[in-house]
Amino acid sequence: MAVDAYQREIKYLRLSVTDRCNYRCTYCVPPEGVRWLAEEEILSDEEILRVLSVLGRLGVSRVRLTGGEPLMRPGLIELIRRIRALNVLEDLSLTTNGSLLAKYADQLKQAGVNRVNISLDTVEPQRFRELTCGGNVQDVLDGIQVAAQAGLSPVKLNVVLTDAVREEDLAFFREMVRTSPVIVRFIEYMPSHQCRVRAGMTVTSVTESLNRLGSGDLAPPVQNPHGCGPARYLQSTDDQGMYGFIAPISSGYCDRCNRIRLTADGRLRPCLLSEVEIDLRAALRGAATDEEIAALFRQALQSKPSAHHLADHGSAFRKRGMSQIGG
Ligand code: SAM
Repeated sequence: MAVDAYQREIKYLRLSVTDRCNYRCTYCVPPEGVRWLAEEEILSDEEILRVLSVLGRLGVSRVRLTGGEPLMRPGLIELIRRIRALNVLEDLSLTTNGSLLAKYADQLKQAGVNRVNISLDTVEPQRFRELTCGGNVQDVLDGIQVAAQAGLSPVKLNVVLTDAVREEDLAFFREMVRTSPVIVRFIEYMPSHQCRVRAGMTVTSVTESLNRLGSGDLAPPVQNPHGCGPARYLQSTDDQGMYGFIAPISSGYCDRCNRIRLTADGRLRPCLLSEVEIDLRAALRGAATDEEIAALFRQALQSKPSAHHLADHGSAFRKRGMSQIGG
């Protein structure tokens, strides 16, 4: 079992497989863009498999593939097959912007991905295009449908609460939750000094709007959905789906944090909101033994802070933006 200095069990790895993304969401990537890593800077399939086999033995049993946009990594499906063949994971999931999901959902399922989280902040085509810098919301809506048909369940939608989210979006999500087993999760926007986007609705205003839209009897579900994240879930008895609320700023959950991140260029990042990074890539490329890799992982656990200080500092992601860390 992997335990950090504050006795939190760390069993969940967010693994960024690329820093590249075909969207440039205004709250995630600064307007001038970011320098993409060169191919040789990114961990190879062999390096990722080696890390997972060592971390798997140390108690990491759940992995979420992320990015950038993970579906942009060449050969991702084959990598997933090989990850599954290691036989060390209980759960393998993926976070995606959904733009390429209609094409890949079946292959992801067959290769061994259990479920997907899909980012969708607004369903209004023009606002979506502006927010993502050119995206087509219909691609994402198609991706959601194909993912559900492929059995990548539960399908969770991530909605970041910037001012792009409007009441009409909530009405759309309300209808979706009423009629399908989708989980719509509203996430507090974590301000980043590179992006300077205004936060929009608050978790409270979302809950109020949903009540107005006919979810007056929202209550915690009998059983929380699969996953081990920080969301608080609510459901109405008439709904097939449910809502999740993730509030890293207004109601911190660091005492329950069970995750660690690995960036596409092989840095272990104990906390999204702290600058500490441990260079695993240098060890992998320097012929480190498994025990030396395990020691770096333990060092990362010991450097995990007790809590983030976003509310005190006002903004996050100083050196690297979210797409470079792996959200
Ligand atoms: N490209 C994939 C996607 O769009 O889901 C995976 C990477 S993206 C960085 C992962 C998640 O981080 C998305 O749900 C995105 O909305 C979220 N995100 C990015 N910047 C954020 C911010 N400043 N505050 C809160 N969530 C953010």
